[in-house]
Amino acid sequence: MPDAVLQAMHRPAPDIYSGDLHGMVDSLVPDLRYVAGTTGHVAMYICNGHGAWEASLSNVVAPGETVLVPACGRFGLGWAEVAGGLGIEVDLIDHGRQRPIDPELVRAALRADKGQKIKAVLAVHTDTSSSVRSDIAALRKVLDEEGHPALLMADCVASMACDEFHMDDWGADVAITGSQKGLMVPPGMAFVFFNDKAKAVRAAMPRVTNYWDWTRRAEPEMFYQYFGGTAPTHHLYGLRAALDMIRAEGMEAIWTRHARLAGALWAAVEHWGQDGPFKLNIADPAHRSHAVTAMAIGKGNADRLRKWSSEQAGVTLGVGLGVTDPDDPTASGYFRIGHMGHVNAHMMLGTLGVIETGLKVLNIPHTPGGVAQAAEALAAG
Ligand SMILES: *Cc1c(COP(=O)(O)O)cnc(C)c1O
Repeated sequence: MPDAVLQAMHRPAPDIYSGDLHGMVDSLVPDLRYVAGTTGHVAMYICNGHGAWEASLSNVVAPGETVLVPACGRFGLGWAEVAGGLGIEVDLIDHGRQRPIDPELVRAALRADKGQKIKAVLAVHTDTSSSVRSDIAALRKVLDEEGHPALLMADCVASMACDEFHMDDWGADVAITGSQKGLMVPPGMAFVFFNDKAKAVRAAMPRVTNYWDWTRRAEPEMFYQYFGGTAPTHHLYGLRAALDMIRAEGMEAIWTRHARLAGALWAAVEHWGQDGPFKLNIADPAHRSHAVTAMAIGKGNADRLRKWSSEQAGVTLGVGLGVTDPDDPTASGYFRIGHMGHVNAHMMLGTLGVIETGLKVLNIPHTPGGVAQAAEALAAG
């Protein structure tokens, strides 16, 4: 989290009934739309990304209706589980953990849906477990070509403000994100963006639970309705500061920064792994996230490296998530590097330097010199 965000949160409790807070919250809305690339609506919630999954579905899919979920890792499966918990029928296309969503498989499922029962397609833009990135615009194209009315709903929790995303231009009807990833604010808030088509679907729902209903949150008649209760005051000041930073840098520059840093990371890992067990989970760079990178490093080695780097070098590496490897049921050979939001070259080179040091100390097989490759990649621009 940037210091500017933390400092903005460090303040006495504001007046929640009137005054500065109200105008400040109004000012967040156009900036959130800018980040999502939409002129549509946004509802803000006090919850995490799991809450945003439930909020988005609650507004447009009733119990007993059907969603299509082309899943590419733990988070796609997680959204499907939330749908199941709401009594929604789930038509799952499991892509495993190393492939992006295949639009042709989605096309086949839509074509097979003769009665057009599928009410929404739930697509995770970047699945944070596998670090695969899927093509959201390609799914819109398939829906249009098949003349299928289902909503296209995109989970952008990991990708928003890291990887290029244009809600309107790419034809997502609903997009969700959380506060704690690309938006650089502590966990505890989430955002559901929706267009007029999704708004009309909401209007035709038999009922929507009061707390998740996006109607008044997106078009409040009074301040209280933004949050269906007391506002998350300090998160909101943090978010204001984060959006100021995002506005100052600009979305194009933010996407470019993430792409460059991800490229440096891949160069290091590919070098370390040229003849050893070290391997990026996603083979094709075109399908790799610019916000998080999952990799394999040999059974047991990731656990050892993560322990060493957090205890000896002050870097917390992500656990291997959602890996189904029968030879390694606890995913002890997999880890992830998060590089979303407030990240720059010195953080990336520092993290890679720590990893290369850990590889040496722990005698984990690798080709030395990955950090130099990352520096080369950054120098090349
Ligand atoms: C983190 C994440 C979630 C869940 O968010 P929480 O805040 O942990 O509940 C959902 N989807 C994706 C793609 C994520 O990266």
